[in-house]
Amino acid sequence: MSKKEIPHKPVQESSTRRRFITFPPLWLLLASIICVLGLVFSVTDFKDTLSSLVSHLESPVHDHPTTQIKPMSYPKTITGGCNCGGIRYQIDFAEDHDWKSAGHACSCTACRKQTGSLALYLHSAQKSELTWTSKSTWAEFSSAPGSFRVFCKACGSSIAWQDREDDSETGITIGSIDEEFLVGKRDADDKPVGGFGAALVNLDGGEHYYGRNAIEGVTDKSRGIWYWKGGVGVQFQACNFSST
Ligand SMILES: [Zn+2]
Ligand SMILES: [Zn+2]
Repeated sequence: MSKKEIPHKPVQESSTRRRFITFPPLWLLLASIICVLGLVFSVTDFKDTLSSLVSHLESPVHDHPTTQIKPMSYPKTITGGCNCGGIRYQIDFAEDHDWKSAGHACSCTACRKQTGSLALYLHSAQKSELTWTSKSTWAEFSSAPGSFRVFCKACGSSIAWQDREDDSETGITIGSIDEEFLVGKRDADDKPVGGFGAALVNLDGGEHYYGRNAIEGVTDKSRGIWYWKGGVGVQFQACNFSST
């Protein structure tokens, strides 16, 4: 045996130490209570911080939603319609569908009034791609000569924008696309999987009309190519409003 055993020495407690253990002084009691209260509050703060962190992780990134879907995936077929189901459509995208320019948005007054939203998001479908599978509650309204807007006369949903002379394409309201395609199908944890919203809206390359109506601090930060008015004319970035 190389290790030498060290015998335990019995420790004699002094009478002062015994008194201290049995009757601790008042200042020590108060200090202990303060420490315990401090610990309780810090644990509460920690729990709050932890729960806010968890909720943040559960609802990821509100500021830049499009960065969540990478690489961009594109649908072959989507369906959509109004709230009551009176108007329904299906879009079968062609191989050469122009994903770069089909998604666009407009902040003009008529688009706002029609939808009740701060901006109208549309995706242009070619005539050969679009099939109206139900038109039982179809209604039209012209907010400007040469075009009309399709809405449901039963539930009021805004469905499409159409040029009267050129019917080669139709602007479908992106909000009317069925959730399973726009957001994604729900998995067992109710999380959306495989939605095509980013591709349909195309915020990075899509055009945004009537930037003059953008609302400071709300819609003026949307990405895309902005135009001051309509789809032609001055192009600018939304974040440069004040200098344009
Ligand atoms: Zn309807
Ligand atoms: Zn508009």
